[in-house]
Amino acid sequence: MQDIDRERCREFLNLERERFQLRNPKSRALFTTASSSFLNGVPMNWMTKWASPFPLFARSASGAWLTDVDGHRYLDLCLGDTAAFFGHVPSNLAQAISQQAQSGLALMMPTEDIVAVGAALKRQFELPYWQVALSATDANRFAIRLARAITGRQKILVFNGCYHGSLVETLVELDGDRIVPNADILGAECDPVSTTRVVEFNDLAALDEALSFGDVACVLAEPVLTNCGVVLPEDGFHEGLRACTRKHGALLLIDETHSICAAPGGYSRAHELKPDILTLGKSAGGGVATAVFGFSQQTKEKIDGILDTSGPGIYAVGGTLAGNALSMTALKVCLDELMTDAAYAVMSERAEAIEGGITDCIRAHGLSWYTVRLGACVGYGFHPCPPRNGGEALRQSDAELDTLLHLFLINRGILITPFQNQLLVSPQVRPEDVEHHTRVFNEFVETITAS
Ligand code: PMP
Repeated sequence: MQDIDRERCREFLNLERERFQLRNPKSRALFTTASSSFLNGVPMNWMTKWASPFPLFARSASGAWLTDVDGHRYLDLCLGDTAAFFGHVPSNLAQAISQQAQSGLALMMPTEDIVAVGAALKRQFELPYWQVALSATDANRFAIRLARAITGRQKILVFNGCYHGSLVETLVELDGDRIVPNADILGAECDPVSTTRVVEFNDLAALDEALSFGDVACVLAEPVLTNCGVVLPEDGFHEGLRACTRKHGALLLIDETHSICAAPGGYSRAHELKPDILTLGKSAGGGVATAVFGFSQQTKEKIDGILDTSGPGIYAVGGTLAGNALSMTALKVCLDELMTDAAYAVMSERAEAIEGGITDCIRAHGLSWYTVRLGACVGYGFHPCPPRNGGEALRQSDAELDTLLHLFLINRGILITPFQNQLLVSPQVRPEDVEHHTRVFNEFVETITAS
């Protein structure tokens, strides 16, 4: 990019790293101690993927704010990578789960809450039948298993640039025309190239050709790609996708885990996508580990046709903790009281204001960067136009500038999602928080463009 002096950016990055080290002695000490008992010093390796030299250790979070162990407060526009989309532990959720904690956590029996949860799921997502899992990865895994059982087909199809969890079959990408395993895949139990077809998002001709072999059980898709930037569907793409899956006898499995930011009931309800199966993880329980997967009437009837419930088998879809009492309580509160039209109205309004601040700043500095918004999620990239598909998104990515941006924001009290330039806006974000973000973003742009 012409406007930006890369050499100076590298110098700024070094300064930001030093600043982070000085600001966070307690996080650093905890990280050093934890490294003697945890791989990479953290209980789950993604926690090291922030732009900072070591991870911040969190002390507490409430609403739109998070406090670290060194006492710094952050405007949280990451929200646990969508898990706390409706804000950190709203009081009704906190109250309900602490009450449930006193009357049993994991019982291997349904609780009364499931009736309300079932009704709420039907209402929110307009699908009649549901099951509960512990994570979005698991929900996708189980949904794929059922799709294979229903269709008698082995392969699945995903879009280039997707992420649907740590399922090996989905960890694939396109290298030109070739399907290759994702570069980060480790110890895969099978070669995903043999299980999966991959095409670019928004390419209906490629989709039609890939499905024409008649061996694909389901197309697993985010309705808007969110794991390689925000890639919106072009006009007619979803109609084409739905028609194409029907034409070739593949099921349409929509993963709403991130696109739940679009509107109540996710993108599928707002745009009448009519999936055969829908999955939702992360935010479903407001941060309590749970996920759901739902079926259309027709899919349910097909499952009924293949399941023999009379014998002892448990067909290995599910898990001991799935549907546990605590997660059902969390689902109930989240679906009934947090995923409301009123909450989405505030989230979208604030997200629009944040996007406006970014756009004004970009214009004022004569930069040709794009912004994009999906309901409560704002994305931007250091490129004139948003990507049309995963391949374009990859070619546009600018890891060096991303790292500097993320660390700059962290050092000034703002968290955005660590894997993308994406901001998630909870209902508790106030107008003055929007202004705070706009101010810091302007400071960043002024820093990197100053001559
Ligand atoms: N689906 C989508 C669209 C995701 O973005 C992710 C995680 N980022 C997952 C599924 C997997 O979620 P989890 O790791 O919580 O299982």
